[in-house]
Amino acid sequence: MAEKIERVKTLIIGSGPAGYTAAIYAARADLKPVLYTGMEPGGQLTTTTEVDNFPGYPEGIDGPTMMVQLQQQAERFGTDVRIGMVTAVELSDQVGGIHKVTVDDSKEIEAETIIISTGASAKYLNIPSEQRLRGGGVSACAVCDGFFYKGQDVAIVGAGDTAAEEASYLANICNKVTMLVRKDYMRASKAMQHRVNSLENIEIRYNTEVDEVLGDQVVEGIRVVNNQTGEKEEIAVTGLFIAIGHKPNTDIFKGQLDMDETGYIITQGKSTKTNRPGVFASGDAQDKEYRQAITAAGTGCMAALDAERYLATVETPQEMV
Ligand SMILES: Cc1cc2nc3c(=O)[nH]c(=O)nc-3n(C[C@H](O)[C@H](O)[C@H](O)COP(=O)(O)OP(=O)(O)OC[C@H]3O[C@@H](n4cnc5c(N)ncnc54)[C@H](O)[C@@H]3O)c2cc1C
Repeated sequence: MAEKIERVKTLIIGSGPAGYTAAIYAARADLKPVLYTGMEPGGQLTTTTEVDNFPGYPEGIDGPTMMVQLQQQAERFGTDVRIGMVTAVELSDQVGGIHKVTVDDSKEIEAETIIISTGASAKYLNIPSEQRLRGGGVSACAVCDGFFYKGQDVAIVGAGDTAAEEASYLANICNKVTMLVRKDYMRASKAMQHRVNSLENIEIRYNTEVDEVLGDQVVEGIRVVNNQTGEKEEIAVTGLFIAIGHKPNTDIFKGQLDMDETGYIITQGKSTKTNRPGVFASGDAQDKEYRQAITAAGTGCMAALDAERYLATVETPQEMV
């Protein structure tokens, strides 16, 4: 006899601040949420040592501990947290329709509502010394970690609007910012370039790439290479910020959900509603603007409230058509 397919009221995909906050609200509203953690249980914050800006932690907290606490809070209200990766979805376009979800290429689940909290992944240079010193002075988030380098010399890699904005942000806090641009021009808008150029403590180096990040436990400097001349040089910095973009983890929804050109899910107005009824998106998967734990948590809360209201308006879900 074929195995009976599990039916859940609210399926949450992802275990970052957005997913767990959605779970806390959904569980307390008796939506009996099932949450799949994906390949990075706890999400991006598990890759950082110090979270200083999440309200409620006056002394700061390390990322992994904070995420364990969020999980415990979600479980206290009955969230069913499961290890597993959603590998395919078939989203209904009918109000009250049932969405089909495949976990780990094998288990089938039917969901009345889905909250997507799959986050985004920061892009890195992927050189060994950079990977080794992630959390030891290498960061992909200037707004999150810039404060720890107050009054110090830092470098930032990137040439787009985000890199320019983060360089300006760092220039306000740090003593000196060296901006490394791979090409002989910047991609950032003219206005952002103007801003960067007008700040005296930003030095822009064109045609320059990171050859190696120096330091044993923490960043002590970088060796850069001029990609035109091959000339190498060491620069003393205590922080290296990588600002070469993010990739939202939304590939499995392509072709079914409306997305922008980089794959961020488009939500409707001030809500977390997507173009499919009963499917809501929260956190970094739909936000390329703010990308913070607190904003992810905020939209996770919104998604659970949107799911609850949606379910209240749908009488009896029909089979998917
Ligand atoms: C180094 C670093 C330091 C940071 N420091 C701070 C800070 O100090 N303060 C701050 O506010 N923000 C900080 N941020 C940003 C913050 O981490 C993010 O904004 C936040 O984690 C986004 O939360 P999220 O829930 O949307 O997604 P994420 O945290 O990205 O979590 C996504 C989750 O989705 C899961 N997932 C993905 N695909 C699937 C799938 N197919 N099936 C199942 N699960 C899936 C992943 O396993 C993961 O659990 C930092 C980011 C980085 C990279």
